[in-house]
Amino acid sequence: MSVTERSKEVHDINVLEWAKNTIDNVPSQRLVIDEVLNSVRRNEIWRGKECLNLLAPEAPTSPIVRDLLSSEVGTRAAEGNIGRLERWFAGTQYIDEIEALCMELLKKAFGVNYADHRLVASMVGNMTVYSALAEPGDHIMSLTQPFGGHSSNRYDGPAGVRGLNIHDIPMDDKNLTVDLAAFEKVAREVKPKLVSLGASMTLFPLPVKEISEIVNQWGGKVFFDGAHQLGLIGAGLFQDPLKEGADIVTGSAGKTFSGPQSGIILWNDPELTEPVTESIFPTLAATHQVNRVAALAIAAAEFLAFGEEYMTQIVKNAKALAQALENEGVSVMGGHKGYTETHQVIADVSSFGGGYDVANKLAEANIIVNKNLIPKDRPEDWDKPSGLRIGTTEVTRLGMKEKEMADIAKLIADVIKGEQPTNKVQRKVVNMRYSFQRLYYCYSL
Ligand SMILES: *Cc1c(COP(=O)(O)O)cnc(C)c1O
Repeated sequence: MSVTERSKEVHDINVLEWAKNTIDNVPSQRLVIDEVLNSVRRNEIWRGKECLNLLAPEAPTSPIVRDLLSSEVGTRAAEGNIGRLERWFAGTQYIDEIEALCMELLKKAFGVNYADHRLVASMVGNMTVYSALAEPGDHIMSLTQPFGGHSSNRYDGPAGVRGLNIHDIPMDDKNLTVDLAAFEKVAREVKPKLVSLGASMTLFPLPVKEISEIVNQWGGKVFFDGAHQLGLIGAGLFQDPLKEGADIVTGSAGKTFSGPQSGIILWNDPELTEPVTESIFPTLAATHQVNRVAALAIAAAEFLAFGEEYMTQIVKNAKALAQALENEGVSVMGGHKGYTETHQVIADVSSFGGGYDVANKLAEANIIVNKNLIPKDRPEDWDKPSGLRIGTTEVTRLGMKEKEMADIAKLIADVIKGEQPTNKVQRKVVNMRYSFQRLYYCYSL
């Protein structure tokens, strides 16, 4: 018997109906499995082989990392800290080895005293920070969404769930950085316990040093949410927040760092170790996917070997793509500062129908990007923003260089400006992608 109530469903009902009909109408249960496998295969062929994936939060993991994600150790339970006495369960000696290797590789890759590998997402890392370093009712400051602020540091994410009072960091919309004079004024009034820096839309470094000098006067701390920039930070290509005065850094392992999707947390001060690790276990992690930890260890080892070269090309490609888009008549933010110091390019497509329509039209041509709020938008315009966010991590790992960025800019502009039929551009994209199927900056399996 199956009962379906959908009145408060938040997901797209048409897609859920498709799934329900598929499940109900297959002639045998075995064929349900094929339906799932078919969807996975369709994605693997389309997104994996035929698309230009320019989503800023994505990166293809190396073959060894991919392989480890289905390893036997992923079925084992290993709650607790590393070491026989620290674990809840017996029989974890090899898991201890894997986790210790991962942790020490992370410390080495980022040049830090402490790191933790148990965060199944960077969202969980941010919750760790808010539970370790703030109490309900405390005041914090974070970036608004039109300036790239992320929900995890706002009322609709972990910071809000922790019951914090959140104040906006004033920004300079011309230079796309913090307006320090205005920041100091607000900060002196609210005396934030934590200032959350770092953003999902990120082109340039932020004044970590200046901000930490201000808030340190009343014991406030700086938390750098480096979800996107993590790889760039590790390679020494972006600001190093801990060296500039930040107290703690979180980051996504699967964005520029190009490891398995999950989170990393880094700090140097021994005094933070107990509150941070106790917020991780037993508060926010229990079985923490040891297969993923093994994969993360490999990602860190490959990062130590190839990271600098890889990350350097990512940034070069982003600058080249930005310049080429501008040459094609697509307006790109940050031109007066060299467009970008990260893997991201932010285009303003309001004159071409806005980010939502343009991103969907590009997807029809197998070019995958996302709509994005930009400073001229209001937070409530999240569903019809003016911007597009374009990332160069994946195309770089596939071996593309500046020349290919010019080709990509032309393909994007042809779709945006409607100068070529979308299906014609799609064929060109598939052709281009077929000669870039190998992964670089990693070891082979
Ligand atoms: C992506 C992102 C997160 C969340 O990271 P996940 O690894 O996806 O959980 C947090 N903060 C910022 C700024 C992000 O861009």
